[in-house]
Amino acid sequence: MSKKKPVVFLILKILAAFFLCVAITGIVFVIVGFGDFENEWKFILGGVLSSLGVFLTFTCGIIGFYPEIAKLSVKMTKHIQAANKEDMTEIASTNAEIQSDAIRTVASAAREGFEGTDGATKFCKHCGALIDGDSRFCKECGKEQ
Ligand SMILES: [Zn+2]
Repeated sequence: MSKKKPVVFLILKILAAFFLCVAITGIVFVIVGFGDFENEWKFILGGVLSSLGVFLTFTCGIIGFYPEIAKLSVKMTKHIQAANKEDMTEIASTNAEIQSDAIRTVASAAREGFEGTDGATKFCKHCGALIDGDSRFCKECGKEQ
C-alpha cells in the first residue's frame, strides 16, 4: 500500500479536531451572546460556528477515522462469531445428525425394499420376482436361488 492514504486520514483527523474547536468556540459564543441583544452578532456567529463546526467535525471525523472504524467493525464481527461459536457448532452438528439420520432411514428403507421385510420374502436372482424367503426355486422362472 502507498503511504498517501494514512496521511490523508491523519489530515482529516487534524481537521476534525480543528472543527471540534470551532464548534466549541461557537457554543461558547452562543452561551455568552444568549439574551445579550446589544451584541446580537455573538449569538449569530456562535450559531453559525457551532452548527458548521459540528457538521464538519462529524464529516472529517468519520472519514478520518474510517480505518479505525473498519478495523473495529471487523473486530466486533469476530467477537460476535467467537461468542456464538458454541451455538453455531451445535446447530451445525444437529443439522449433520438430522441428515445422517435421514440417510440412514433412506438406506434402511432401500435395503428392506431389496431384501423384503425381515427375510420373509426375497427377489429372484434371475428374474427379480418377489418370492418366499426360504424358497430354493423361483415360482416364476423356476431357476435355483
Ligand atoms: Zn425367477
